Amino acid sequence: MTGPQDATAVITGGGTGIGLAIARRLAAMGAKPVLMGRDLERLEAAAADIPNARAVRCDVTDPDSVETAFAAARSEGPVTILVNNAGIASSSPFHKMDEDEWMRVQDVNVAGVFRCTRAVAEDLMAAEYARVINIASTAGLRGGAYIAHYCASKHGLIGMTRALAAEWARRGVTVNAICPGYVRTEMAETAITTIMEKTGRDRDAAIAELAKTNPQGRLIEPEEVAEAAAWLCAPESRSVNGQAIAVDGGATG
Ligand code: NAP
Repeated sequence: MTGPQDATAVITGGGTGIGLAIARRLAAMGAKPVLMGRDLERLEAAAADIPNARAVRCDVTDPDSVETAFAAARSEGPVTILVNNAGIASSSPFHKMDEDEWMRVQDVNVAGVFRCTRAVAEDLMAAEYARVINIASTAGLRGGAYIAHYCASKHGLIGMTRALAAEWARRGVTVNAICPGYVRTEMAETAITTIMEKTGRDRDAAIAELAKTNPQGRLIEPEEVAEAAAWLCAPESRSVNGQAIAVDGGATG
């Protein structure tokens, strides 16, 4: 296999938001998406609308679940595209953040990526063409108030991306991260609700607060992130390796 056509493409968190947009986009390139997440019903409903897609239950924090899920994904051939998109976020002042909240975010956002990537490492290393795309965040590129745990996890994910890109550079696989600003998904919806609750502002003002982080003054659409993933999956993008690509409207600070 020399490109995404007929490639088995696992997308964690593929039933919603950014992951779902990526699954649709990769299917349009001829890939066979495997949507993973904890909510099987939601995954099956999403997969039903995507050509050649399958839904497989997977909790990325549970090593047994990851093993079982990736064995199912590999049943129709090696996994040569892996989009590590599953992620969680919350916000707390640092001095009120407890150990559980800290560890939960690292477990999904960093260790989860380690588990999923290791589960298909042999496939990726052996392939003539393969891609790993880690959905990080602008929070992996700079700091932000009240999200120390999330920032640490996404900085860690970018570190893992760069290390693996170096380790596998002589193989057919590239490893890159995409770093979106605020994207219009359930995760951003939670942030909007939190701002409304904590500041008493109305919905428009809360959205404006998030949009302010983007020089283009808007929330990003999931399809824009999916387009970056599609570009990374093109065979012609093989020189792009170990990068953390911002999809954020040009934020520099
Ligand atoms: P979302 O709709 O909330 O998606 C998160 C996905 O992760 C869900 O599909 C969820 O599926 C899955 N997930 C969570 N915990 C999981 C677990 N333990 N095992 C397996 N799957 C799990 O939000 P989104 O915005 O599309 O987020 C996707 C990625 O983009 C995340 O990594 C996030 O950090 C990143 N991101 C988002 C934004 C933004 O503003 N939205 C900005 C930058 C980066 P289940 O509930 O079915 O498990």
